[in-house]
Amino acid sequence: MTATLSYRRVLLKASGEALMGDQKFGIDVSVVDRIASDIAEARKMGVEVGVVIGGGNIFRGLAVASKGGDRVTGDHMGMLATVINSLALRTSLVKIGVDAVVLSAIAMPELCESFSQRKATAYMDEGKVVIFAGGTGNPFFTTDSAAALRAAEIGADALFKGTQVDGVYSADPKKDPFATRFDHISHAEVINRGLSIMDTAAIALARENNIPIIVYSIHEQGGLGQILRGKGRCTVVAD
Ligand code: UDP
Repeated sequence: MTATLSYRRVLLKASGEALMGDQKFGIDVSVVDRIASDIAEARKMGVEVGVVIGGGNIFRGLAVASKGGDRVTGDHMGMLATVINSLALRTSLVKIGVDAVVLSAIAMPELCESFSQRKATAYMDEGKVVIFAGGTGNPFFTTDSAAALRAAEIGADALFKGTQVDGVYSADPKKDPFATRFDHISHAEVINRGLSIMDTAAIALARENNIPIIVYSIHEQGGLGQILRGKGRCTVVAD
């Protein structure tokens, strides 16, 4: 990628699995600390950061539904998992002196504040990192959709999707040696080719709101800062 990118406010989406490290389940605090340090670097550069974290390292609603259980209850459990991850990230950020707040789509006032768009933008204007917990607050959605939704609500200049690989490929590069990587691709092409970087609803929402999606490897230390400086390795999804 050669063009210099200039983003004032970004929404970062990390999957729950990104927090597991080498574990098979749960949270590896050293990994959360590393992601927090990347966010701290972005803040030092003056970029306002909102974060949505998934819950797949702890629970996914389909795990209940696939065994004949109630999907809605399963999704509630999944959304609670995102709150656990969000609290973990806040702790890691606060430890290194970054002011951060968790806003949950599901009210749980003893643990964190409830989400409202006005509160979120006010905190971001103050320079706080805002972590959006509880997904959209609705079952049958994903945290990818929550990320696109919150990005639109806070007026983010870009949605950063941290993944296991360094961009969008024509096929899974871990399985297909002939997979090719895109530097740039449109939202429509991602949907039409069925490239599974985010769910279709999330990509469509980003497209409707003219929000570019920056796909990059969340495992590369300093990767976020590099991309914000216009030097990092990523795929830009934009029309
Ligand atoms: N979830 C939900 N509504 C939302 C976001 C998430 O019901 O708006 C539930 C759903 O059960 C999902 C789980 O929370 O499986 C964890 O989210 P997700 O699968 O998106 O996490 P990730 O794959 O990013 O770790």
